[in-house]
Amino acid sequence: MANSQNTNGHETQSNGQRMQTTIVIGCDGIRSPIAKWMGFSEPKFVGHCAFRGLASYSGGQPLESRVNYIYGKGLRAGYVPVSSTKVYWFICFNSSSPGPKITDSTVLKKQAKELVENWPQELLNIMDSTPDDTIIRTPLVDRWLWPAISPPVSAGKVVLVGDAWHPMTPNLGQGACCALEDSVVLAKKLARAINSNDTSVEEAFKSYGSERWPRIFPLTIRANLVGSALQWDNPVVCSVRNNIVIPKLVRLGPLLEHTNFTSENL
Ligand SMILES: Cc1cc2nc3c(=O)[nH]c(=O)nc-3n(C[C@H](O)[C@H](O)[C@H](O)COP(=O)(O)OP(=O)(O)OC[C@H]3O[C@@H](n4cnc5c(N)ncnc54)[C@H](O)[C@@H]3O)c2cc1C
Repeated sequence: MANSQNTNGHETQSNGQRMQTTIVIGCDGIRSPIAKWMGFSEPKFVGHCAFRGLASYSGGQPLESRVNYIYGKGLRAGYVPVSSTKVYWFICFNSSSPGPKITDSTVLKKQAKELVENWPQELLNIMDSTPDDTIIRTPLVDRWLWPAISPPVSAGKVVLVGDAWHPMTPNLGQGACCALEDSVVLAKKLARAINSNDTSVEEAFKSYGSERWPRIFPLTIRANLVGSALQWDNPVVCSVRNNIVIPKLVRLGPLLEHTNFTSENL
């Protein structure tokens, strides 16, 4: 467990071992002790949780290659084939609290099925084809990186990447994508600092933060707002959303422009 860092000496403790490092890259996820040490607040629970599972079909999965969404009231589900034999599915549901951590996968599957018991048979069949031990339940959280309020992305030669820096809700499917983008930008800046004398590692980390923040901050907010709209539970509002707003947005397109990311060659 990384639990002590020093911006000059970079002494890190990992599973009881002490390491001397020149640079610390904190890519240790939403509960990052490194982010905590840098002064970042705990990620905030946004009022909904997700079940996820991976259905398995040894003889080949039966679905067309497309993403399927089903919207309910305070509840939604989706499924998509991810290989010739596997189908990924999720269910998002409103919850007043993150709830207890449940490790018994049969309980998780039962709870997930109860949420959607009268939903389309195709979804239920996919859940039935899901090995219990692939099912997880995750409270959804995020952290908004307010300018001048949030700590900077780096402190000396310690820097954050991915969820450790910018946990976002999965409603735009961008958390892991942004973590990968972070690493590309950071690698480019760090390589330049190490291979030339025109910039220091500390400056490279600051420059990485300045380049990434304008992408990360609006995406985190947008993902949160989209999630709130998709989790509405008022029947009238849901009907307008499902029958007017979503079809209109789909017709207007393009809906995926936020996934564009262009990088210089490394
Ligand atoms: C329901 C749901 C659906 C999602 N869907 C999508 C999607 O469709 N598209 C998308 O792009 N993103 C999606 N995401 C987000 C995505 O999962 C995360 O943004 C991504 O995993 C972040 O990557 P990361 O490497 O920053 O952190 P993580 O994936 O959390 O990796 C951190 C790693 O650090 C390790 N670690 C932690 N502490 C220590 C330590 N002290 N020492 C050593 N190792 C440590 C952990 O074991 C872990 O392996 C989804 C998230 C959820 C919850």
